[in-house]
Amino acid sequence: MFTQIEEYKTVIDGEKVNASTGETMDIVNPANGLVIAKVPKCGISEVNSAVAAAVKAAPGWAAKTVGERSKILLKLSQLIMANLEELAKLETMEHGSPIRKTMNFDIPLCAEQLEYFAGVGRAMKGETLPVGPWCASMAVREPLGVVGLITPWNFPALMVVWKLGAALITGNTVVIKPPSITPLTTIRLAELALEAGAPAGVINVVTGPGDIVGEALVQHPDVAKIGFTGDTATGKRIMSLASNSVKQVGLELGGKNAFIVLSDADVDAAVEGAIFGAYFNTGQVCAAASRFFIHESLYGQFEEKYVKASMSLKYGDPMDMATVLGPVAYAAHRDRIEEYVARAKEAGAVLLLGGERPNTPDTKDGFFVAPTVFGNCSNDMEIMRDEIFGPVTALCKFKTNDEAIALANDTRFGLCASIWTRDLRMGLQLASQIHAGTVWVNEHLIIFCETPWGGCKESGWGKDLSTMVLDEYTKIKHIYLDLIGQPVKPWYAILK
Ligand code: NAD
Repeated sequence: MFTQIEEYKTVIDGEKVNASTGETMDIVNPANGLVIAKVPKCGISEVNSAVAAAVKAAPGWAAKTVGERSKILLKLSQLIMANLEELAKLETMEHGSPIRKTMNFDIPLCAEQLEYFAGVGRAMKGETLPVGPWCASMAVREPLGVVGLITPWNFPALMVVWKLGAALITGNTVVIKPPSITPLTTIRLAELALEAGAPAGVINVVTGPGDIVGEALVQHPDVAKIGFTGDTATGKRIMSLASNSVKQVGLELGGKNAFIVLSDADVDAAVEGAIFGAYFNTGQVCAAASRFFIHESLYGQFEEKYVKASMSLKYGDPMDMATVLGPVAYAAHRDRIEEYVARAKEAGAVLLLGGERPNTPDTKDGFFVAPTVFGNCSNDMEIMRDEIFGPVTALCKFKTNDEAIALANDTRFGLCASIWTRDLRMGLQLASQIHAGTVWVNEHLIIFCETPWGGCKESGWGKDLSTMVLDEYTKIKHIYLDLIGQPVKPWYAILK
């Protein structure tokens, strides 16, 4: 794969197409900085044709039985597994995620999530409302129509599938704006969906710059909703643009998530959870553990064990099955992380590990950041407030549980948090005091198809996953049927 630069087309109205201008964008392998592919650099004209195709396909797709839509999702799920190796390599090469992760996690989970949506959609319910014996009153669910899905680069395939499965099973057609730097798996998923039997126009992909393609999609009058996952600043921009047409938006945004270790915690379990929470996907996870609050009585042992475990993580060539940390996704992102690290040092955070650019034969040309740990941080430092989105963690001490909760809540974000304690009653009590969409007790970063995902405050609103996502992609219509042939008397009578 990628022995030469490959030219990709995007998928609009069931056809593989180039941008009308013929322009392309380079896709770079972050492990070595080499261009591996070119994709169409689409613009407003492709957004218009993709939305027109989705509008045309919408009545036919909505008219299918949910069972028919479900079978197409199941077929797509099977095709994903049949093409596991190709998709996993593609994701690794465009994003830098280690192959052991893309083979065992990202791509199989895409298949599993489609299975989940294929099943849960068939159990979708409306309601009958017992107003009185003279009428039938129903709340029925209807598709929204054309939905725009705008996705981030941190889990290129998975973030599309989260939204795609829910949007399709509920009868919507979609136009996807994939991340500019990692669009290849999304294009392949759209091609496989055609093979699985999705009619032309049901899934359209418009590759191109966010500020052109994304904004045109958000402002298009025929798009009923935008499902967005990405940066908080972009989410705010999308919200303001969508307000012109009072368009629905679902926003899964950034996080700066607390990892709280109480005085009675099992330190070894907490360190293991911290390593996973902080370094999974090289820390490029909205839900990453990034603000560590450790009770002062065990701060010393936690710090020592956490730094030692961080040192042992193997980073390097993501195509090597032994690698657990790949590069970050692009050069400017690596540079931004390094600037945060430099400013944290200036601000007085104690550098315990990392802080230098790796320079081994398999890292020197890529965009690598070594595991980096700061100790003795305070919650007002930039490193404790901004989402860094890399393998960088900041440790901070606390004295009382009340103080830990106040520190955890002292952030503009509200995505998730975790509490580590042997006292489960205390864990539950504190969980209820944290302002976040998810709180784990003795876990961090465990997400299932069945569990709702989505934050509060500047981490966004709305839910992905679980049965709750069905509300995000359907609208409720009340239908009232008079059964007796005359208006209901009591209140009508007062107008006479
Ligand atoms: P981003 O906001 O830069 O880009 C996300 C998508 O929006 C991309 O497809 C991009 O091209 C597009 N875009 C950019 N500018 C746009 C505009 N003006 N109008 C419309 N679309 C535009 O985010 P990113 O850097 O790709 O992703 C990282 C961010 O995503 C992090 O902040 C992370 O926390 C967040 N994220 C959140 C969740 C969650 O579930 N809450 C999950 C994954 C990632």
